[in-house]
Amino acid sequence: MKNIRNMDVEWGYTGERGPENWHTLCDWFSTGAKYPYQSPINLSKDLINGVSENREINFCYKTEEFTEKEFKNTFHFIPPNTESYVVFEEEKYYLTDIHFHTPSEHTFDGEHCPVEFHLVHMNNSGDNLVVGCLFTITKEENKFSKKKAAFVWNTQTHQQWFDPSIFLPEQKSHFHYLGSLTTPPTKGPVHWFVFDTVQKLDSDFFQRIDEGMLPFNNRPVQPLNGRKIYFSE
Ligand SMILES: [Zn+2]
Repeated sequence: MKNIRNMDVEWGYTGERGPENWHTLCDWFSTGAKYPYQSPINLSKDLINGVSENREINFCYKTEEFTEKEFKNTFHFIPPNTESYVVFEEEKYYLTDIHFHTPSEHTFDGEHCPVEFHLVHMNNSGDNLVVGCLFTITKEENKFSKKKAAFVWNTQTHQQWFDPSIFLPEQKSHFHYLGSLTTPPTKGPVHWFVFDTVQKLDSDFFQRIDEGMLPFNNRPVQPLNGRKIYFSE
């Protein structure tokens, strides 16, 4: 095991550099994997043991610029000006990255969805809060489709302007639990909020971001290890 903290350590989703072996690839990954509450997990209303009203999250998102980037095995939208944020327990967490996994990383009652978007946030202390949004893919008219014009791709540049609220469902009921990053270094704690509503993603939109990506990039579900799962209506 090399004693390096290096963003360039290669990892993937199969074989020697796959999820089962991430913790062996470097000390940084090894340390992250020691956090007992790992993500993703299976979510089920049968498992809820912490129904609570103060697990609310408030979205203060606005239309801003995003840069398209492909790295670390997925497609990312990065907002260089980080103007959008959420408020959780009176703390502001700024949106720093949007990316996706296929199939979904979280499961509902043991079932994957075709796609899961992660809206990654960070507060001024460097703590992460991630919002998970699960989708099926459709050719029917949907909020991402051209007719709706809520998301218009600029094909000339790798800059896009949109309101990240487009990824959120109208119905804001959600699971909340403490977990980790789902990619190396898989460190925690990370506040996770996963909407229980499965939304519809436009098939053309999906093809655009999925082109050239791995056939799958989901970390398998992790043990609960006795942690609480909250659900807010
Ligand atoms: Zn992710």
